[in-house]
Amino acid sequence: MKTINNVIFKDWKCALCETDDETFDHVWLCDEQEDSITILIAKCKEYLLLLINKYRANKDTVYTNLDNIISDDIWKCIYDNDALTLLDLIKGIIPVSFNNINTHLQNQNNFRKVIFEFRSFLLAESEKIWTYRCMMQHEKERINGISSQDKNNRIVNNSYIDIHRKIDNSNQFCLEALESRVNLGSNVLSYYGTDLLPN
Ligand SMILES: [Zn+2]
Repeated sequence: MKTINNVIFKDWKCALCETDDETFDHVWLCDEQEDSITILIAKCKEYLLLLINKYRANKDTVYTNLDNIISDDIWKCIYDNDALTLLDLIKGIIPVSFNNINTHLQNQNNFRKVIFEFRSFLLAESEKIWTYRCMMQHEKERINGISSQDKNNRIVNNSYIDIHRKIDNSNQFCLEALESRVNLGSNVLSYYGTDLLPN
């Protein structure tokens, strides 16, 4: 988010709440996004349910909710060091607990379709929240008289460090525990590293 502009934006706070530092997690945890996140979660649950019904094995059964299919914990919009949450879903990580969906479908190929279509939907919906953040950030820059030229002239190469996700290389065996909770993922984070609005 501030990878290339952390000279100009060194002391800037989140453009929405103007209170907290803007980490990746804060974009989704910001109080000002709460209503949008609530809608996002409801839409995602509804769409996942639709997909399960679309590819279900038993055509005599219509699922009306996700109870007994996947745990509700995955929809919590919180940072949790010990469990996967909505923040991880947004990053493209599918928890291994989603494998339980497979037992309600016709075959493995349908499971792949459900996961692929769900991830595409979630990415498109989360893009709306990210776009709003970018719009507010650009407006803040405009009010403060910061031009695209200013930003381009002040590019630095300091890497972005997420305060919540510091990696301890001396403790690599913990990765196995993480792997056991993750089914698949991809590099969607790079998508959020850029502003969506034209300069
Ligand atoms: Zn905020």
